[in-house]
Amino acid sequence: MLQLYDTLSGQPKPLESGLAVSVYVCGITPYDTTHLGHAFLYVVFDVLIRHLESQGYTVTYTQNVTDIDDDILRKARELGMDYLELGRRETERFRRDLDALGVRAPDHYPRATEEIPQMVELIGRLIDGGHAYERAGNVYFRKDTYPRYGELSKLSREEMLEIAAERGGNPDDPLRDDPLDFQLWQAAKPGEPSWPSPWGNGRPGWHIECSEMAQRYLGQPVTIHGGGADLIFPHHECERAQSESLNPEVPFVHHWVHVGMLRYEGEKMSKSLGNLVLVGDLLQTYSPDAIRLALLSRHYRESWEYDEGVIATAQAAADELANALALPYGDGASLDVLVRAASFEAALDNDLDTPTALHELLGLAGEIERGSREGAEVTNAQALLREKGRVLGLTFRQVAATTR
Ligand SMILES: [Zn+2]
Repeated sequence: MLQLYDTLSGQPKPLESGLAVSVYVCGITPYDTTHLGHAFLYVVFDVLIRHLESQGYTVTYTQNVTDIDDDILRKARELGMDYLELGRRETERFRRDLDALGVRAPDHYPRATEEIPQMVELIGRLIDGGHAYERAGNVYFRKDTYPRYGELSKLSREEMLEIAAERGGNPDDPLRDDPLDFQLWQAAKPGEPSWPSPWGNGRPGWHIECSEMAQRYLGQPVTIHGGGADLIFPHHECERAQSESLNPEVPFVHHWVHVGMLRYEGEKMSKSLGNLVLVGDLLQTYSPDAIRLALLSRHYRESWEYDEGVIATAQAAADELANALALPYGDGASLDVLVRAASFEAALDNDLDTPTALHELLGLAGEIERGSREGAEVTNAQALLREKGRVLGLTFRQVAATTR
C-alpha cells in the first residue's frame, strides 16, 4: 500500500480517500518556454497517477493555468501582444513539450480568467464570514482569523515576512492591518485587464484562484495537492487558510506533496536567472524516455543539480531497456524476475522511490539479457518489463542514432 510523504504532518502516510483519488497540481503561468524544472514537477505527478491507476485507483486530475498575473502582463507588453493570446500560445507550447515526454493531460485544465465570477463569490463569502476586509477597492484575507496559518510551512513570522517580500507578497502595503494579511482581490490599475466585483473593478489574487478551481473541479477535501517546494509558502499556506475558512468542517487537503527544485549551474533553474535547460532543446538530442529517466533518477523530494552527465547516463539506461525488449529469447518468469517486479512496486509504494524502482527495472533488463544469452524463453519477463515501464511512462522507443 502506498505511503506518501505529507508536508503538513511531516511524515509519510497512507492515502485516506478509498479508491477515488483527486489530484490538484498548481499549473504554469504561461509566458515562457517549458524548462526541465517544469518537466520534473509534472513528470513526477504523471508517474504518481500512473502508479495509483496501476493499483486500481480512479484518479481525477486538475491542473490550473494562471493566465493573468504581473509577469504575463509585462511579457505581453514587451511583445506587443494580447495577454490572452500570449497565454494560449505558451500553454499550447507547454502541452506539446509535455506530450512529447508522455505526460498525460489533466482531466480538468481550467484557466483563471474563465473562473473569475466564482472567485468573486468566494471572496464575498470570506468577507461575510469575517475572514476578509476591503480597503480602497482591494480585499485582504485577515490571517489572524485562521489560527492554523503557518502550520504547513512551519516558518516563523520573521521568515514568512522575508519570503513574502521576496516573492511579490508586498507586505509593506500600508492598507493591510497585518503585513501577513494577503490579497484576495486587487483594484484595477490603469491599462490592465479587470473584471467587475462588489468592490470595484479589479482582478483576483493568485492564491484564491487555486482555492476556487480545486473546490470547483475536485471538491473538498482534495486527496493530493501538489506543486513545487517553492509554493509551500506563501501560496499553499494561503490556499489552505482560504479553503478551510470557507469550509471549516473538512480539511482542504489530505496529502500535501511537494517536489524538489532543480538547479543548474549552481542556482535554482528559473526564468529570472536565465539558467534554463529547455525540454525542446533536449528532445533534439535525447529520447523522451531518456529525459524521463534522468528526472526519475532522483527522488522527487530532493532538490538536485542537473548536468549533462545525468542525461547521458539516462540515455544509456533507456537504450538498455529498449534493447532488452528487442531480444528474441530470454529467461521466463524466473524467481529473480518476479522478485525484481515486486521490488519495483514496493519502491513506488515507498513514497514514490523512483531511483530504486529504476534500479529494479534495469535489473529486470539484465535478467532478460542473461536469459537470452542462455537461450531460455523470456517473453514473461519482457511483458513484466513493459508493464512496469509503462508505470514510469516509458515508451521503449529508441531514437535514431543519426539524431544524437
Ligand atoms: Zn496553486
